[in-house]
Amino acid sequence: MTPRPPLLSVDDALDQIIKAVSTMPSERIAVETALGHVLAADINANLSHPPADVSAMDGYAVHSSHLSSTPKSLTVIGESAAGHPFNGVLGNGVLGDGFLGENQAVRIFTGAYVPQGADAIVLQEDTSRDGDVVTILEQPKPKQFIRKAGQDFSRGDLIASKGATLDARRLALIASSGHGTVPTHRKPVVAIISTGDELVRPGSTPKEGQIVSSNDLFLTHLVTSLGATAMNIGQVADQDDALTKAFDQAKSADLIVTSGGASVGNHDGVARHMNESGGLAFWRIAMRPGKPLIFGQIDQTPMLGLPGNPVSTGVCAMIFVAAAIRKMLGQDPLPKPSHAKLLAPLGENDLRQDYLRARIHIDDQGQTWAEAFNKQDSGMLKTFADADGLIIRPPHAPPAEDGDPVPVLLLPR
Ligand code: AMP
Ligand code: MG
Repeated sequence: MTPRPPLLSVDDALDQIIKAVSTMPSERIAVETALGHVLAADINANLSHPPADVSAMDGYAVHSSHLSSTPKSLTVIGESAAGHPFNGVLGNGVLGDGFLGENQAVRIFTGAYVPQGADAIVLQEDTSRDGDVVTILEQPKPKQFIRKAGQDFSRGDLIASKGATLDARRLALIASSGHGTVPTHRKPVVAIISTGDELVRPGSTPKEGQIVSSNDLFLTHLVTSLGATAMNIGQVADQDDALTKAFDQAKSADLIVTSGGASVGNHDGVARHMNESGGLAFWRIAMRPGKPLIFGQIDQTPMLGLPGNPVSTGVCAMIFVAAAIRKMLGQDPLPKPSHAKLLAPLGENDLRQDYLRARIHIDDQGQTWAEAFNKQDSGMLKTFADADGLIIRPPHAPPAEDGDPVPVLLLPR
């Protein structure tokens, strides 16, 4: 028997995947449709906000120096409302110089331009009005209730950085800074194939020997949340013809992800297909869960073959599929792990890098603690769903005691 090649390390596997996938071209899209897209370039403000000094309250624009003692009565010479700045037309219809003079006030509302010559807003509640005369009851401080021009941002300021995933808040900012479109990376299309004669669709009642397929649902949601478009090819029987047909359908995608059939059993068609097609780049890595991971290409399309156990699929997808998608979207493919202290000891590790499902919490002192679940079977989806993160145990890590620091990958909630 020929000896098996040594298992590829997680880092080398990541390296090969990241090198083999290309960043998607960029395209300009409307801000209205950009939610979840990734920016392909920095965005600088085209406008300043506010565009001029504006009132933060409803009240009266005054000059604080006219009001060294209160109560004091001022003549109301006009009005400034949002969208309708005070244009210098005085209360008597005569065009003035648009400048607030001695003992004059302008009625003003939130968001309205502050007239020239005013340096403070007096709250409506701190005044009494009689015809054209307003009596100011409270002495204003200079600048009070005025939002300075550009206090939010000024033309030219950096508003959003290349690589940012656009959410509602960032898009609101980008739009208000004068952009109707944004440069984004085209979303990669990820074809998802789940293999297995035993699989039935969510919601159906499994017959003898069957189980509900969860991997394609998980992968669909994961790749969507990472900013890709999922193309679910469906559940494919463990027959070579069926798999070949599914790959033909999937080839138009930017990345193909399969689950199941990755190991050495008679029914593991994905490994066989990749071995025989000549598209295999690597198979089997030094990782737990996820040893039988496959990477290669179907024609020109990169493919990742994930082992079918749901936690192997999940963890491998969060590490390898995520790295590929991030690279395709022009983002840093490898998120930096955090650190936590162990709440319970861990034994010495073997040659495979472990990703242990764990509870993670921050104590009152701000210290992060992690405790691995007792059972780490890769078929146990409940602990995967309950986990706050994964403790990373590098190959041959020595035994670790309570309080020892360990690298952790926090799982998004
Ligand atoms: P395989 O990698 O095909 O040998 O599958 C390993 C284990 O994962 C088996 O117990 C399968 O039944 C299970 N499995 C495979 N695919 C799925 C799936 N899509 N959803 C849930 N479990 C699966
Ligand atoms: Mg299978």
